[in-house]
Amino acid sequence: MMAGLLLARAGIEVLVLEKHRDFLRDFRGDTIHPSTLEVLHELGLLEEFLRLPHQKVRELRAQFGEVRLPVAEFAGLRLRSPFIAMIPQWDFLDFLARHARRFRGFGLQMQAEVEGLLFEQSRVAGIRVDGEEIYCNLVIGADGRHSTVRAQAGLEVIDLGAPIDALWFRVSRSADDPADTMARFDRGSILVMLNRGDYWQCAYVIAKGALESLRLRGLPAFRATLAALLPFAAKRMAEIASWDDVKLLTVQVNRLRRWYREGLLCIGDAAHAMSPVGGVGINLAIQDAVAAANLLWRGDFSLKCLRAVQRRREFPTRLTQRFQVLVQDRILSRVLAGAGGSLEVPLAVRMLARFPALRRIPARLVGVGVRPEHVASPAVAA
Ligand SMILES: Cc1cc2nc3c(=O)[nH]c(=O)nc-3n(C[C@H](O)[C@H](O)[C@H](O)COP(=O)(O)OP(=O)(O)OC[C@H]3O[C@@H](n4cnc5c(N)ncnc54)[C@H](O)[C@@H]3O)c2cc1C
Repeated sequence: MMAGLLLARAGIEVLVLEKHRDFLRDFRGDTIHPSTLEVLHELGLLEEFLRLPHQKVRELRAQFGEVRLPVAEFAGLRLRSPFIAMIPQWDFLDFLARHARRFRGFGLQMQAEVEGLLFEQSRVAGIRVDGEEIYCNLVIGADGRHSTVRAQAGLEVIDLGAPIDALWFRVSRSADDPADTMARFDRGSILVMLNRGDYWQCAYVIAKGALESLRLRGLPAFRATLAALLPFAAKRMAEIASWDDVKLLTVQVNRLRRWYREGLLCIGDAAHAMSPVGGVGINLAIQDAVAAANLLWRGDFSLKCLRAVQRRREFPTRLTQRFQVLVQDRILSRVLAGAGGSLEVPLAVRMLARFPALRRIPARLVGVGVRPEHVASPAVAA
């Protein structure tokens, strides 16, 4: 959607295809990072965007046993918007769609599932949607981590592996609960909690494939584990009425060796599925879109220009994934492998808690990322 908006704004005719009827989807990360807020500012949309109902996350905390410590602080970053805006993804996408429609060349077709690619010799020449053929100069595969486009294009996937999965659920929040967005670590368990106003969006991290054994132990045992981690909300665990209220995110970390071929470019999760560590998938997808528009708005979709998009975005992707894999393997797996009981606070976390300036490092990694992009494509088609 962001790539569509930017390209249409620069005068290119764009058709965005979305297989669902609307963008209303269960939770898929509602984090709009400071760098995305900066992009919205560059587009003159920030003020209006921040009028949508949202929560502001200004710092991140981690809890080890009963010790709760700050680990990332966005205030120190000297950004225009030093916070993560928590806003449902469908509100964000609807907002972008509404603004993209102001541009003459923009089209959005909902309930339009891309079934396959059309080829002219080795060049991708278009797509097949509901039995209809649509020809175009460039297909942008931004269809997520189960991308049909990338599979059909035969692009090679490098799998980096992930030892964890995440279970997402929500419980209500009462006014006297803590306000922080935080991660809680105890031997054998990791729980991330996002403050969404009147409820907590929670992720319980498990070892890969461990859901089945968890289910065998039964829902009451799962509720009891959560209640021990969240004593202030222990009674509310009854709100998890069945396993249907618990959604499994099968974590994947991978990227394409080549993000493009003639007539086709993949961006976002379709080019690189990110680990949930740090919650940065949306940020990277948006940054890819901005970089792609900066390099493609002139309408030159040659291999050289498509390669330039990958060159620009591959380094931030690789570095972020390397960091995520490190955290998955060195920290999360070890915590999950431990027996029950409190954990000692790791030295790195103690340092972050002690020296506020150090907290800018994780804040920058999460909130801004490596090589933030700025809108350089023009507005010619309002
Ligand atoms: C449970 C969960 C929690 C997450 N939490 C966070 C978080 O806290 N912070 C964060 O930054 N990231 C988070 N992520 C990751 C984040 O959602 C993704 O990284 C980000 O949405 C990627 O954007 P994208 O546009 O590349 O792909 P997507 O957001 O996946 O969008 C792809 C779109 O393409 C559509 N589509 C797919 N196939 C077709 C087709 N054949 N034809 C037409 N349309 C199609 C899909 O319906 C979808 O709307 C989370 C992901 C999940 C699953």
